[in-house]
Amino acid sequence: MSHQSPTTPPEPLDRVKGALLGVALADAWGAPYEGGLLERLLWRVIGTRQGRRRWTDDTQMTFDVAASLADVQGIDQDDLAARFARSYQWSRGYGPGAARILKRIHRGEHWTTASRAVYAQGSYGNGAAMRSVPIGLFFAARGTNAVIKAAQSAAEITHAHPQGKEGAVLIALVAGLVFNSLSPSEIWTAIKAETWSPVLSDKLAIAEQWLSNKQPVEPSRVARQLGRSMTAANSCPTAVYIALRHLSKPFAELLDFARRVGGDVDTIGAMAGGLWGAARGLGALPIEQLAGLEACDHLLREASRFAAALQAGLESPADILTCLPNSGMNLENNL
Ligand SMILES: [Mg+2]
Repeated sequence: MSHQSPTTPPEPLDRVKGALLGVALADAWGAPYEGGLLERLLWRVIGTRQGRRRWTDDTQMTFDVAASLADVQGIDQDDLAARFARSYQWSRGYGPGAARILKRIHRGEHWTTASRAVYAQGSYGNGAAMRSVPIGLFFAARGTNAVIKAAQSAAEITHAHPQGKEGAVLIALVAGLVFNSLSPSEIWTAIKAETWSPVLSDKLAIAEQWLSNKQPVEPSRVARQLGRSMTAANSCPTAVYIALRHLSKPFAELLDFARRVGGDVDTIGAMAGGLWGAARGLGALPIEQLAGLEACDHLLREASRFAAALQAGLESPADILTCLPNSGMNLENNL
């Protein structure tokens, strides 16, 4: 039997599962608050299945990415595109642009042309960022550049615009940093070591300042200054802020804060919830909410399969050493 002191981070495999289920819980609990009146009314009708809360596109695509990584042991854009297209269901609340791209791919069009036919410059929405948590975990031990390259490559399928990709990189990067149990100051050092567009770096600077001053910022101010919309630039820094602010607090407080920020609640919540889960693990998620989540057993099985594949991919001794939390090595160099 293993014992853990309160300060010991949970086991890495528990945190991998916590990250994926954190995405799903925050997505399902945020979905009723997303969108305008019509969307909320519709979600009242279709938002539960056999008394359990349904999850949306955020969870579906996150688990598509995890399944692909588990099967392929890397990023295979064609495999990802095929899975995204196969999994598409209108009732999961996909954005209209993503829906058009995925339907085209499903009809046989290659993702490169389908994506550009819908958005000539590429989409700058947060749809690639919302599925990037597993990428950060999977590549965390292989270094920052591996995470960035993988996140960009997986984003490009539907979100080829630089800001769409940048959001995906940010979420994957922070997922990897949190998973590697870096301290808040180490996390910010690593984030700031990368090059971001002016809009993103301005927002990240605000978030860092709020967090380092332990300033009790109201959700309305977070919404105003960091954003809460469906664009990557107006939602990814928000999600990072919410996650890092709540890392040592209960999951319920993170959910409540995301709901009060408002806007694209399911996606901002899903990204924040995934980052939180990567730090705190499955054991810290509220059991009563897991019990009320649609297809929770299936998601847990898939998360376990992904966790096992992640571990299997780290079989060379050098990689295993770099993924150990608090191993005493300079983790900044590893991510
Ligand atoms: Mg959604």
